[in-house]
Amino acid sequence: KFFIQQENKIKERMSKIKYKIAILSGKGGVGKSTVSTNLAVALAKRGKKVGLLDADIHGPNVPKILGLEGYPEVREGEIIPLEKYGVKVISMANLLPDEKTPIIWRGPKVSGAIRQFLADVNWGELDYLIIDTPPGTGDVQLTIMQSIPLDGAIIVTTPEELSVLDVRKSISMAKMLKVPILGIIENMSGFVCPKCGELTYIFGVGGGEKAAKEFGVDFLGRIPIDIKAREAQDKGVPMVLMDCRAKEEFEKIIDKIIE
Ligand code: ADP
Repeated sequence: KFFIQQENKIKERMSKIKYKIAILSGKGGVGKSTVSTNLAVALAKRGKKVGLLDADIHGPNVPKILGLEGYPEVREGEIIPLEKYGVKVISMANLLPDEKTPIIWRGPKVSGAIRQFLADVNWGELDYLIIDTPPGTGDVQLTIMQSIPLDGAIIVTTPEELSVLDVRKSISMAKMLKVPILGIIENMSGFVCPKCGELTYIFGVGGGEKAAKEFGVDFLGRIPIDIKAREAQDKGVPMVLMDCRAKEEFEKIIDKIIE
């Protein structure tokens, strides 16, 4: 009975959200949280109603990039999202006693937490819900893909990671679970010289398009390694709110996504 009740609640919540998009990556540290967060902030800046669910339960980085602190309010069994830069945000990081406490949960408990987020967070009406997932193809991705009708998945990778099987696994998972793949974003692609602004492709260029073609999915664009962007993000300012090369490239990608 609990399951059916929860199922209905999830349906009801999700029916108020136009587009539900999950961000996936094969490995950690490729910029998945960066893409999730900046996508959410940039869409909000364009006047959209946006929610951001940080479902990376074991390594929640979204609040750090947003400089977001505090606990979401729990009212009559509902979780009220925090808000920053016009985005409604829920992250495991804000539900822990302190940032040094690791979460050591097994699969079923993780899935339970995700389903609770989906059922109990009151997002209200949204244009977009962006979901940041943990790296890989585990319980969290499976739970999300099975619990809600996703409108799309975006795969984030780096030039180095492209040759690796993990990206392929993320794509296969989405395909198997009938989630439309919006495309691949190649992050940390090239390096912006902090002195002259010149963009250098240290590992060459074109790997992303090639891989996308091979996987039969769209290539959405590339974001360079930009020190200015990283420094800002370390201080809680997402790169799309900065005047930098990474932001310019990011905006082009967003044009493509909302096309
Ligand atoms: P993931 O979510 O894949 O683990 P993050 O988004 O947390 O990765 O990014 C890892 C680190 O790299 C963060 O410190 C982030 O600010 C930085 N970073 C991500 N993308 C870029 C970029 N294009 N330029 C500079 N730094 C970046």
